[in-house]
Amino acid sequence: MIDYQKILETITSNCALSKDKGEIATYIPELAKVDRSRFGIHLVNSEKKEFQSGDSNELFSIQSISKVLSLAYAISIIGEAVWQRVDVEPSGDPFNHLSLLELENGIPRNPLINAGAIVIADILVSHLENPKSDFLQFVRKLANDDSIDFDPNVAQSEKKTGFRNYAAANLLKSYGNLKNDVDIVLDFYFHQCSIAMNCAQLTKVFYLFMNRGVCQQNITHLSISQVKRINALMLTCGFYDEAGEFAFEVGLPGKSGVGGGIVALLPGKYCVATWSPGLNAKGNSKLGMEALEKLTTATAQSIF
Ligand code: GLU
Repeated sequence: MIDYQKILETITSNCALSKDKGEIATYIPELAKVDRSRFGIHLVNSEKKEFQSGDSNELFSIQSISKVLSLAYAISIIGEAVWQRVDVEPSGDPFNHLSLLELENGIPRNPLINAGAIVIADILVSHLENPKSDFLQFVRKLANDDSIDFDPNVAQSEKKTGFRNYAAANLLKSYGNLKNDVDIVLDFYFHQCSIAMNCAQLTKVFYLFMNRGVCQQNITHLSISQVKRINALMLTCGFYDEAGEFAFEVGLPGKSGVGGGIVALLPGKYCVATWSPGLNAKGNSKLGMEALEKLTTATAQSIF
C-alpha cells in the first residue's frame, strides 16, 4: 500500500526548504499580491480517500486550469463539432502567442492556449442562456460545492490589462472564427479564468477526468472517448511550451495556470493538485512541478 499522506508531507517539507521558489506573475496586477512562500498539495484516490499537506485549503486563482473545464463543458454540449473550430496539436509556443494564428488562418492550435480557449468561450456564449452563471453551475456541480465562485477583482484586473487577449480575439474575429462580440466573449473568458479554488476543490472538480467521465457524485458528464481526448490534450498541451518537460519529469496529464496551480491525474488511480504561486521561466509553478516529479518518482506511478 502506498502511503500517500507520508509522501505528501515529505514533499511539502522539501519544498519549504527550496531557495528558488520562482517568480509571481505580475502581468495581471491582482495576481501579484499573493505570498510567494505558499505551498499546498491535495490528492484524492479512486476510492475517494483524500490526502493533503500544506496550504491545500487556501483559495487561489485557477486561471488557465479553467480552460480544461470550459472545453469539457463545450464538448458535453456540442460534441465533436468543437474540432471544426480549434485544432489538437501542441503549439510549442507560449500561451499567448499570436503568430501561429495568422499562419493557420484563425484556427488555434489547441483549446488550451489562449486563442483556443477564447474560441471555446465563444462556443459557450453561443450555446448557453446565461453563459457565466451556467458555467459556474457546471463547475460547482462537478465538485458538489456551491461555494466555488468567480473573483471579480481578478476578472476586472485582467480586463484592464488583457491587451494580447483582445488582439487574439480580434484576429479570430477577422478570420470568422468568433461568432459573438469580442467584448462579450472576453468578459466570459476573464471570468472563467478568475475562478478561485483551493487544491482540495480542484481535485474534486477534476475527479471525472481520472474516472472515465463520472464525477464524485456518480454523474456521467463525458463519454470515455471524450475523456481520453481531453486527457491527451492535457498531456500534450497542458503546460505551455513545457508540455514535453512535464511529461518527461512527471509523466501525467495535467494543466497549470499562472496563478501557480497545477492539477494532474493518473487515470483510474488518483487526481492531485498543487499550488505554489512562484512560476518558472515557462510560466509553470516551479515548486508544483518539482512536487509532482517527486510524487510520481516516490510512488513509481505515472502513465508511463
Ligand atoms: N487569464 C490568463 C491569460 O489569459 C490565463 C493565463 C494562464 O493561466 O496561462 O493571460
